[in-house]
Amino acid sequence: MSAIIPSRQDAPAVPAATRVVDLDGRYVIPGLWDEHVHMTQWALASNRMDLSDAGSAREAAAVVGSHIAGSRVTGAGDGFTGGTGVSSGTGAPGDVQTLVGVGFRDAVWPDLPSLGLLDGVTRGRPTALISHDLHCVWLNSAAAQRYGVRVDADGLLREDPAFALTRALGRLPDAVVDKWVQQAGQAAAARGVVGIVDFEMTWNRDAWLRRISGGFAALKVEAGVYPQDLDRAVAEGLRTGLAVAGSGGLLTVGPLKVLIDGSLNTRTAYCVDPYPNGGHGLLTVSEPELLALLVRARQAGFVPAVHAIGDAANRVALDAFEAAGIAGRVEHAQFVRSEDFARFGRLGVTASVQPAHALDDRDAAEANWPGRTDRSFPLRSLLAAGAALALGSDAPVSLLDPWTAMSAATARARQDGRGPWHAEQALTRQEALTASTRGRGRLRAGDPADIAVLDGDPLTVPDAEFAAMPVAATLLAGRFTHGGQ
Ligand SMILES: [Zn+2]
Repeated sequence: MSAIIPSRQDAPAVPAATRVVDLDGRYVIPGLWDEHVHMTQWALASNRMDLSDAGSAREAAAVVGSHIAGSRVTGAGDGFTGGTGVSSGTGAPGDVQTLVGVGFRDAVWPDLPSLGLLDGVTRGRPTALISHDLHCVWLNSAAAQRYGVRVDADGLLREDPAFALTRALGRLPDAVVDKWVQQAGQAAAARGVVGIVDFEMTWNRDAWLRRISGGFAALKVEAGVYPQDLDRAVAEGLRTGLAVAGSGGLLTVGPLKVLIDGSLNTRTAYCVDPYPNGGHGLLTVSEPELLALLVRARQAGFVPAVHAIGDAANRVALDAFEAAGIAGRVEHAQFVRSEDFARFGRLGVTASVQPAHALDDRDAAEANWPGRTDRSFPLRSLLAAGAALALGSDAPVSLLDPWTAMSAATARARQDGRGPWHAEQALTRQEALTASTRGRGRLRAGDPADIAVLDGDPLTVPDAEFAAMPVAATLLAGRFTHGGQ
């Protein structure tokens, strides 16, 4: 790895008034990209308490109580705590944001939730806890009053009332969400990230222009467009790769995102062979419709990013790219027929993959694709067949932290003692870096100054250190977005 400033002997003359930064022998790499993010969802999730480790209602209440004790409830100063944060207020005095927790599993608790238990630890702050399966919300009296719902002594809402309250909890003022997005962007920069592709399912351009004019400057953003907004995007002169005016170079129009199947865990990923329950999953857009959409994208200057998880969906996507005569990306590519690996490279279709999902979903894959998991999350096979890989997180599904993704891609294991899963599909460290830096891989003279400065050598540190790589500084176009003091 090279240093930003070469050794004195071969350094070019440094113009006067140039700030010279001594990196103390640290390592530098090109700035990292997360190629698949849902940024608003990630910012919301990052500001919700994680209750997945609570082994009882009493333990969950204790977690809530200690969060409330540790946070200033009027919000303006609430710190972002990187994944387990607490909802903060809007900044107006007395305007206390509802505290939201997620992920509790009351089905395995030895005791029962109750209104009194939660009231006893929340000091009157509205608090709502959403269960792991989303079908239940446990709330306190202050939250029941704020949202106008009636709860019994158990403090629980179930099914439709729970869904309705969950939707209400997600409706927040732009100013609140924008502040959280800014904090999430800062947290990403602290992990060496310089850019994201945002696939939030909305009209993204205006939200990002608003955030940038409000001071967001931590990342470059490529904002995806969905088919329901394609007419509007074309009418407004947008196309993939266009730098959006007024964004100071931070915002670019991203790909056209098209979903054509579901997911592995819901058994809706569209597959050639049946699931154990007999279904093949769902193709949610017909092949003629997909072809028409890709032809339209080609004519309008949009690069398609087709969500395809099952092997049949990947086949359909590749057929459509081929027939439409357009290159692009497949998002996820979790399960691919062997005969399709080489088509990615031949058709110029990038495999936009989320390696952390391989480890999250290894049991689900073994259960649903038995005997065929040698071609699930097939990073090595895709690369060997000539595909370009682009690594991402699909945050909030996994953490917006490329080191988590690169660690999963290279070790195919967590530090949980389970050992690697299909280690033959692992990437090398250099391959993972290349797939996380838009093909740059390493710094070269003349590159844009999008740079991450690391405390360890990413090619040689042990796996555990690589997964949690300390990032000393990040620069975006020569400007420090993290560290550099
Ligand atoms: Zn996604």
